[in-house]
Amino acid sequence: MKIAIDGPAGAGKSTVAKMVAVKLGYLYIDTGAMYRAIAWLSRAHNVSANDGPALAKLARNCNLTLKPGATTGVFVEGKDISTDIRLPEISELVGPVSAQKELREELVKQQQSMAHAGNAVLDGRDIGTVVLPNAEVKVFLTASPEVRAHRRLKDIQKMGLSDTLEEILAAIIERDHKDSTRAESPLRQAEDAVKVDTDTLTIEEVVETILSLCSKCEKPIKI
Ligand code: C5P
Repeated sequence: MKIAIDGPAGAGKSTVAKMVAVKLGYLYIDTGAMYRAIAWLSRAHNVSANDGPALAKLARNCNLTLKPGATTGVFVEGKDISTDIRLPEISELVGPVSAQKELREELVKQQQSMAHAGNAVLDGRDIGTVVLPNAEVKVFLTASPEVRAHRRLKDIQKMGLSDTLEEILAAIIERDHKDSTRAESPLRQAEDAVKVDTDTLTIEEVVETILSLCSKCEKPIKI
């Protein structure tokens, strides 16, 4: 069984997707971490964020590994870049990088082959629409920009950075706009996805909502 969780930045996708995966004993694939890793590599190798074919080549050759954990461990070329890929400069660069068609085709292929290894929970922007259009459970997780900015602020403060709430809110609004208006696989709710607004829900309530959708699914699942 495949569970697709899509939505804008800061809606709580990765926290919730990870908890659902742990509860069900499923594989968790953080597709945002993959786009972030390529954005990081494009800087390290001086590849332009607009050069789709060169970015796709980086993705093919970098031997990208994801390790489950509180924050997804991300390794490329044998280097641990888990912390670096969450820095604000990479969050900014990942927008143009992830808009490149050739890169998306390569990463979607890798995500599909990882997911097909077994039961999996994937989170991202295009899981229900492009990566796994036949996923048994599709969730579109949202929250208001203000609530998402407050959540991001807490993460950023934990990283020892001093960005203000206003800066974070502006960056979130800009990323939402870029993710949802780009030509390639824009962020949008799949027609058969269930929308879950997390503004007033606790993390546990969101996880319960998704588990209950899973239990209504026809295929047997392991809990
Ligand atoms: O989920 P996260 O915020 O880490 O994703 C970083 C960026 O990667 C998103 O803002 C989006 O531009 C891109 N992304 C994407 N498709 C996905 C996952 C992430 O375009 N499936």
